[in-house]
Amino acid sequence: MQDPLKQSFLKEIDEIKSIQELINIKAKYIGKKGVVTERIKNLGRLPSDERRSQGKILNEIKDFIEETIKNKEKELKQKEISESLKKEFIDITLPGKDFYFGGSHPVNKTLLEIIDIFKELGFTVEEGPEVELDYYNFEALNIPKDHPARDMQDTFYVSEDVVLRTHTSPVQVRVMEKKEPPLRFISPGKVYRCDSDISHTPMFHQVEGLMVDEEVSFSHLKGVLVYFLRRLFGDIPIRFRPSFFPFTEPSTEIDIGCIICGGKGCRVCKGTGWLEVLGAGMVHPNVFKFAGYTEGKYRGFAFGMGVERLTMLKYRIDDIRLFFENDIRFLRQF
Ligand SMILES: [Zn+2]
Repeated sequence: MQDPLKQSFLKEIDEIKSIQELINIKAKYIGKKGVVTERIKNLGRLPSDERRSQGKILNEIKDFIEETIKNKEKELKQKEISESLKKEFIDITLPGKDFYFGGSHPVNKTLLEIIDIFKELGFTVEEGPEVELDYYNFEALNIPKDHPARDMQDTFYVSEDVVLRTHTSPVQVRVMEKKEPPLRFISPGKVYRCDSDISHTPMFHQVEGLMVDEEVSFSHLKGVLVYFLRRLFGDIPIRFRPSFFPFTEPSTEIDIGCIICGGKGCRVCKGTGWLEVLGAGMVHPNVFKFAGYTEGKYRGFAFGMGVERLTMLKYRIDDIRLFFENDIRFLRQF
């Protein structure tokens, strides 16, 4: 016949599931104020023969409880470890998750390519402000206030004398004011015009270039720009057409053979077989005058191009607005 104390202890310890419960049971039976501890304390009140037999039994129960608790603790800890191992198990033979690397925006990619090509030709890179004085954006480029050429560009005015630059050409003037030739640089950057449709956005990127020295001629212009276009588009037909810009004289527009239809005529080249890609010309003497150069001392050429347009042709994209929608599915293709 087992002691009822031992029985109730065994029943309780059988049901516990955590270390904390075990600590509670330990306190309840053999802690400072535990049931067994209290009984041992009270042994002194019993007659001496009973005291001895009861003492023996109680000590046996106490040893038994201590031993059982120790074993239970070991068992619980083992269970805890194997459960956390099961939970944290990693199957290293499973295939990994795919992740995407970031990449350059297609417009930026083309821009960097353009810069690289001109660097090969010894051109440096110059930058200027996007909020520009009317003077630098128009006047110093031979476009006075009443000049009809102002209608060619839909300008965002900040105030009467301040505009969002409509081209990167003002950088030319700013550099020429500070430096004497020889000059050979490009100025890439954002420009702004009130215009928005399938091939125009209110903000787009331009690269402007300038080369000035005492002996620079139209054949230098031709050599540099033909080299540039062939490096960017490969071996394609190129033609120069006479054109007009207020800040160059003579002026030219440069076409490449349509890369979509190979010159047969299509929607993109409007059936002509040619695509306009560059504007250029010999710097107008008035522009040198505004820069403060001695009259007749220098000659030079300037050119400008739209980076979005070149990117559209290079990657055969038919809507300029795709560049600015930031649709990740579109951008991941580059
Ligand atoms: Zn075509």
